[in-house]
Amino acid sequence: MEYSIAVVKGDGIGPEVIEEAKKVLNRVGERFGHRFEYKELLAGGSAIDQLGLALPSETIEACKNSDSVLLGAVGGPKWDHLPGDKRPEQAILGLRKQLGLFANIRPAILFPELADACPLRRESVEGGLDLIVVRELTGGIYFGEKGYKDTEKGRAAYDVEIYSEKEVERIAKVAFEMARKRRKKLTSVDKANVLESSRLWRSVVNRVGKDYPDVELSHMYIDNAAMQLIREPKQFDVIVTNNMFGDILTDEASMITGSIGMLPSASLAEGNFGLYEPIHGSAPDIAGKDIANPMATILSVAMMLRFTFGLSEEADAVELAVKSVLREGYRTADIMSQGMKKIGTKEAGDRIAKAI
Ligand code: NAD
Repeated sequence: MEYSIAVVKGDGIGPEVIEEAKKVLNRVGERFGHRFEYKELLAGGSAIDQLGLALPSETIEACKNSDSVLLGAVGGPKWDHLPGDKRPEQAILGLRKQLGLFANIRPAILFPELADACPLRRESVEGGLDLIVVRELTGGIYFGEKGYKDTEKGRAAYDVEIYSEKEVERIAKVAFEMARKRRKKLTSVDKANVLESSRLWRSVVNRVGKDYPDVELSHMYIDNAAMQLIREPKQFDVIVTNNMFGDILTDEASMITGSIGMLPSASLAEGNFGLYEPIHGSAPDIAGKDIANPMATILSVAMMLRFTFGLSEEADAVELAVKSVLREGYRTADIMSQGMKKIGTKEAGDRIAKAI
């Protein structure tokens, strides 16, 4: 099969980690008889430098015309002086909106080989950890009405949390489908004891749940969920939540796995289209030194193979290759521990590609 992939390398370590992910994809192509065609596109700081804006319309169009999008990371101190709406990070928000990416899927996986990197008590993560947070990405308070107004208490600012039943329904379906393919447990996180929007959220999730009798559904308040994630993370399989709660929970979930350099993500639109990227940023402090960990981006490619291209065997092969390189004791600097063999970005990519 032939697949076209829009590639946005971005800034900082973006180009370095993308190069390794392409190496791995090419190896998958060789091994399983697929052809991956890449279209390199500008977005973020490099687009500002070359074209004067963070998200050129040509990039949006080319992404829309591809089967899938692979993104490194954008941003860096060079562009920090720019006003909010002109900054490289606007490219990410713009792409989410333009491509209709409403579901953000972030696995939090702790490989047993990296258990020492986890800040939690060993017994709470014994045998590794594998949960997924499904975050609604295009609604809620980040996109609701906002502004300033004069009140009797003086000048005030407001942001409105708003969700339609349709928005909740479609994200709930994504989460139920995901749970169905895993351990069949879904936890919906909200603040239904206080927020009207959460009460609507909960009732819609319950309604959708009737179509998934095989999935065990439970509800949890966000404050409790933040605590439970630290106390007993293994109780979770799939978590579904709104945009803002998801923003916070996904970062918390990534920390309990120990390294930001290991975690992939997918942002999905209706149908199978998706944008795949590591959860980390452009890490300007380590850019150009061949020390960035490319595994988060390589594991993002595995998600692309599974979710957008429907190639589960190929996705499994990539994940197994990452595991086997870890099992052999190879570590990039961010996950290095005593007695292990330190490798750079390129060698990590080479070894993973070779293990496929
Ligand atoms: P960051 O994720 O870039 O870096 C945080 C820390 O983790 C740094 O010490 C960095 O060296 C380390 N790190 C990150 N990725 C790593 C990897 N693959 N291997 C080894 N170490 C890694 O976050 P930050 O420093 O807050 O942000 C830097 C820039 O990235 C900012 O301009 C920010 O706006 C941008 N950013 C972009 C995205 C994105 O493109 N999606 C996401 C987050 C931050």
